[in-house]
Amino acid sequence: MQNSSLLELDRKHLIHPVANYRDHEKKGVTLLASGKGAYLTDSNGHELLDAFSGLWCVNVGYGQQSVVDAATAQMNRLPYATGYFGFGSEPAVELAAKLVEYAPASLQHVYFTLGGSDAVDSAIRFITYYYNAIGQPDRKQFIALSRGYHGSSTIGSGLTALPVFHKNFNMPGAYQHHIPSPYAYRSDVGHDPAALIQRSVQSLKDKVAELGADKVAAFFCEPIQGSGGVIVPPVGWLKAMQLACRELGILFVVDEVITGFGRTGPLFACEAEDVQPDLMTVAKGLTAGYAPMGAVLMSDAVYTAIADGAASGTPVGHGHTYSAHPVSAAVGLEVLRLYHEGGLLANGVALEPVFSGGLKDLLAHPLVGDARSRGLLGALELVADKSSKRQFDPSLKLHERISTAAYAEGLVFRAFGDNILGFAPALCYTADDFALLFTRLRKVLDTVL
Ligand code: PLP
Repeated sequence: MQNSSLLELDRKHLIHPVANYRDHEKKGVTLLASGKGAYLTDSNGHELLDAFSGLWCVNVGYGQQSVVDAATAQMNRLPYATGYFGFGSEPAVELAAKLVEYAPASLQHVYFTLGGSDAVDSAIRFITYYYNAIGQPDRKQFIALSRGYHGSSTIGSGLTALPVFHKNFNMPGAYQHHIPSPYAYRSDVGHDPAALIQRSVQSLKDKVAELGADKVAAFFCEPIQGSGGVIVPPVGWLKAMQLACRELGILFVVDEVITGFGRTGPLFACEAEDVQPDLMTVAKGLTAGYAPMGAVLMSDAVYTAIADGAASGTPVGHGHTYSAHPVSAAVGLEVLRLYHEGGLLANGVALEPVFSGGLKDLLAHPLVGDARSRGLLGALELVADKSSKRQFDPSLKLHERISTAAYAEGLVFRAFGDNILGFAPALCYTADDFALLFTRLRKVLDTVL
């Protein structure tokens, strides 16, 4: 079909995620046609360097033939196997065992979902079941961070703390609460790591006291807040939050949907601080976007209570037709192999200084107020005035000008509102790819100056 006809059909019929529908009807989209390594080509033949790994997920880069082969082989062998009524599939079992091998030692059991939102949603349902099973049914309150993103499921979107996910959706509901984000650049305690950590710990304690010590179920957090603007907490923050949850007697849930699978250096961000969560949610880099899949990992204590809480002969009523889909599982196994034996984790770690150095160099640019990153996850924060950190007036439509300039230069990254530009390059990037990224990015910033 002609490109123009497809664009017309898209405007008429396809509802896009987190989009302004009326804008979409007017402007349409750019159709992406193919990808190789870190590069995309659209249906006009325009090449783009992807500095965002799709939606922080294509961590292995595009066109990895061994992943395509693994999916094809599994599709030929068995395209679908239910996990219901006593069945399962080989790749799903192998992938669960591999995840447990690589994940923090506290996590022993895996439930597979289709992505991150239903992983968070499943975690909430499992936690609720767990507390009912151990005779603490009043523990129904969930706490998360402001600026956090935990997907857009019915309950999980209440943990998400970004306004567009709430307005007109009646979220957060009665059971979801937020404490301040450890946002160094705009915090009144500034970049002082000890003060930022202390503030978060105290805020959690205060919130638990306010809600009632025996009413709170769990605290959810991202090790680095992604969609909230790549907020990088100080080293030690995640461990301090784990210890605070232990002290408060509430479950500690780490959402590694973005930070997992090499994004911050190690396979999981938890590893860097020997953090041992009670539950962990993952997705995105698990299959690197080659097939949909997410997972909830849980401790033996949580699993055992749920298992024992189900009356004899009664199932735990949580499931999805496509849980542990064998094609996604086969993809996940090959993607894990690429991270380890394929050298991608090591490549990401080796090139991290090139990425963080390139971002820091841009601090000299008149528009850039802050540059922050960990591993290959980073952001630039743009300001109208560096000393006051004043943000740009929305009437300047900086966001639109940046998007237009980025497309013209052949670069894909994500602008969060007018102020924050997010970057998540694939772990297969070379030094040359980074050089091109920063050359093009500088031109984009100069164009909108
Ligand atoms: N949790 C986090 C931390 C995320 O960043 C996301 C998506 O960006 C989700 C959950 C939701 O994942 P999905 O979009 O696969 O439903």
